[in-house]
Amino acid sequence: MRKPCRKCLLAQLDPDEYTQNLLEYIKNYPADKRVSEEVYRKRLEICQNCPELAGGICAQCGCYVELRALKPSMYCAGVKKLW
Ligand code: SF4
Repeated sequence: MRKPCRKCLLAQLDPDEYTQNLLEYIKNYPADKRVSEEVYRKRLEICQNCPELAGGICAQCGCYVELRALKPSMYCAGVKKLW
């Protein structure tokens, strides 16, 4: 797989390749720096039922929720702090 270009703008990226890189990044994120699988699944379940989610991105913070939910220090970006 080609290394992602760090200087490319979204408009310059192949959308399929970008998504693939993102999924690879999530898959390979170090186990000692991520929440447990159970916590991760619960967080994403909450996001999936949240009206702020659109195309994998949280409208409150602009993050990809699958990335945001990985990290123990992160929290829901919504006003109600759902997770
Ligand atoms: S507001 Fe919270 S629950 Fe909703 S999509 Fe954003 S991070 Fe997820």
